[in-house]
Amino acid sequence: MIDKKIKLNRDCMGCHGCLNICPENCISMEEDKEGFLYPKVDYGICINCNHCINVCPIINKTLVENNPSAYACINNNEEIRLASSSGGIFTLVAEYVIDKGGIVFGACFNNRFELEHDYVKTRKELSKLRGSKYLQSKVGNSYNKAKYFLDSGTKVLFTGTPCQIEGFKAFLGRKKYDNLITIDIICHGVPSPKVWRKYVEFRERKADSLTQRISFRLKNEGWKRYSVSFSFKNNTEYRRNLNEDLYMKAFLKDVCLRPSCYDCEFKTLNRQSDITLADFWGIGNILPEMDDDKGTSLVFINSEKGRKIFNSISGDMKFKEVDIYEAVKYNSAAIKSVQKNPNREKFFDDLYSLEFDELVKKYCADSLKVRIKNKAKAILIGILSKIGMLGVAKKIVGRN
Ligand SMILES: Cc1cc2nc3c(=O)[nH]c(=O)nc-3n(C[C@H](O)[C@H](O)[C@H](O)COP(=O)(O)OP(=O)(O)OC[C@H]3O[C@@H](n4cnc5c(N)ncnc54)[C@H](O)[C@@H]3O)c2cc1C
Repeated sequence: MIDKKIKLNRDCMGCHGCLNICPENCISMEEDKEGFLYPKVDYGICINCNHCINVCPIINKTLVENNPSAYACINNNEEIRLASSSGGIFTLVAEYVIDKGGIVFGACFNNRFELEHDYVKTRKELSKLRGSKYLQSKVGNSYNKAKYFLDSGTKVLFTGTPCQIEGFKAFLGRKKYDNLITIDIICHGVPSPKVWRKYVEFRERKADSLTQRISFRLKNEGWKRYSVSFSFKNNTEYRRNLNEDLYMKAFLKDVCLRPSCYDCEFKTLNRQSDITLADFWGIGNILPEMDDDKGTSLVFINSEKGRKIFNSISGDMKFKEVDIYEAVKYNSAAIKSVQKNPNREKFFDDLYSLEFDELVKKYCADSLKVRIKNKAKAILIGILSKIGMLGVAKKIVGRN
């Protein structure tokens, strides 16, 4: 069965397709020592139907070729855009679906700040899904729930990482539903939920309080220099720039991603979703007039359905078509997996014996060159801010 058929730790991306398809409910997703979920079959119940093997998108690769077009996009609603990770285009599509009586699936925190897939039915609830959360979301039985809504004729927007979308499509048996819209993201890779749990505990110990709210992408210092923020129940706040936050350091140093992310099958321009969303890094070089450092989305339209929705929401955004190859030059995560950090195994070995700050200091330290560069940047920003030239400062720290 599935847990014997694929080399779990390297190949399985944890999409939950096998769990959702099993007619006997004999598959559970169990956490390994790194904190990633893998299928486990209860052979006392298994009827050898092979559905789990037939649904696995890694065993049955079927990437259909397509010819996407790419756009730089900005949601006209400034409040939504600032609350979103890039240009706020997810919310525009989600609102379009909800206004038509549909529902939206995506990744949201539960009350213990674990990340799970769930669905919402109203515009108000969309805030739960809005914003990137940099860890792997647990799909649970969302594919089954979404199928139930699809079969009853409800419009469904299903969003997630490319592997989650692929898992969902495989679960649906590649059946074409007119009422299904899918969005994937350009995905750097997903960190371990266990590492995230350890970080939340660390921050709560430091704050001596439980967490109330978390944002990975606060734009107070600009979109390109975003901050991670924790608001605690004792009314204190922790906030650090992406280069200084310990968790973001571990994420961006590629030390705690799921093993399959280092050799991702779905980093391609042949996306299986209707729409792909990403940060438009490099926008300052390609279309400087669309870069005000509040967030610009890179959007791929991958299907006719995606095109129809894009046309329907186009009145609510600023957009310009761009050359897709030019755009991905600044966003290699679209087409290329990151390299595994050579310290990855040691990082996980020490996960429980070291405090989070010691762990990151030991395995994710910047090189001397990067430290000097960051220090010089910080000094320059300080000086420019003092003399009222923050705009120039932002250009200096930008990724362009
Ligand atoms: C783990 C991760 C890695 C990413 N890596 C890159 C990258 O390398 N380059 C790049 O350009 N963009 C990357 N993105 C995408 C980018 O951060 C934005 O999510 C995207 O541009 C959409 O932004 P938005 O402003 O339109 O909407 P937002 O409101 O910011 O996005 C919300 C959408 O993201 C989904 N989402 C949030 N967290 C997760 C998660 N953990 N798993 C699955 N879905 C999630 C929600 O379900 C919702 O559909 C990444 C996102 C995630 C979650």
